Amino acid sequence: MSSSQTTPISFEFFPPKTAEGATKLLAVRQELYALNPQFFSVTYGAGGSTQDGTLQQVQSILQDGFDAAPHFSCIGTTRDTVREQLAAFKAAGISRMVALRGDLPSGHGTFGEFRYASELVECIRQESGEYFHIEVGCYPEVHPQAKSPQADVQAYVTKVKAGANSAITQYFFNSDAYFRFVDEAYKLGADIPVVPGIMPIISSSQLMRFSDACCAEIPRWIRLRLQAFGDDTASIKAFGLEVVSDLCEQLRNGGAPGLHFYTMNQSTAVTAICRNLSLA
Ligand code: FAD
Repeated sequence: MSSSQTTPISFEFFPPKTAEGATKLLAVRQELYALNPQFFSVTYGAGGSTQDGTLQQVQSILQDGFDAAPHFSCIGTTRDTVREQLAAFKAAGISRMVALRGDLPSGHGTFGEFRYASELVECIRQESGEYFHIEVGCYPEVHPQAKSPQADVQAYVTKVKAGANSAITQYFFNSDAYFRFVDEAYKLGADIPVVPGIMPIISSSQLMRFSDACCAEIPRWIRLRLQAFGDDTASIKAFGLEVVSDLCEQLRNGGAPGLHFYTMNQSTAVTAICRNLSLA
């Protein structure tokens, strides 16, 4: 078996907000099933989505015979709510989740009983032992609210020691940041798989908007080239395909244990990247 066939892939969706979005996502899911991913994950809270929308998608994917993980954020919540939610996950046949702190809507509101994702991971382990496979988030380019890069790696290590099984990174376009993060965390005793989160480049304006919001760096040479393409979407997509395929190749050659794609509920770009890498 070639190394390309052994790289596990996973895909992330957000719960669709309209009937049209839901119909489109059904077709996208069918296309991505053909790539035989290890699992799908479905976001929660981002853009105001509810846990109901997340659960609905996850259950529907499970019914289609693929593993699926809800994102589960603890901001503004209580231990009792977490307990209820874990019972609902178990009843729905869910055994994997992405455990996160989440963000306060526009910086307002209250944190609730949990300050950090590490406390959620700890609570899940206390409430349900080893039942769930817990993924956590991490940030090779440093989380925007971290006191320092070192404090951020340490916060990640704390999540791992609280019981996380594997991690998915925020997206990045600079593989050095990923390899450094993995090395530093490993030296501090965190040896779980760290799967790079991959953002396909589909639209220039969308990428700039998301990157500004989550503080992901777009290297100057990529930004300038995207700007120079203007409204020429075909060139943007072709350039994006080349850049992101190269990034995935570097990550894979450097030992990344898998690739997690932020699909933006679209299949064309990620399918093309997977085909380029012979991952299909
Ligand atoms: P934490 O790990 O708690 O970290 C948050 C901040 O606190 C960091 O700056 C960290 O350095 C600091 N910190 C942590 N522990 C300590 C400590 N003990 N002492 C001092 N500082 C500490 N958001 C959504 O709303 N919905 C989603 O579905 C979603 N999915 C995501 C999926 C992935 C793979 C990733 C990487 C992010 C996702 N996010 C999502 C965004 C995420 O919710 C935000 O980035 C959020 O601000 C941090 O969440 P976290 O779980 O990484 O938090």
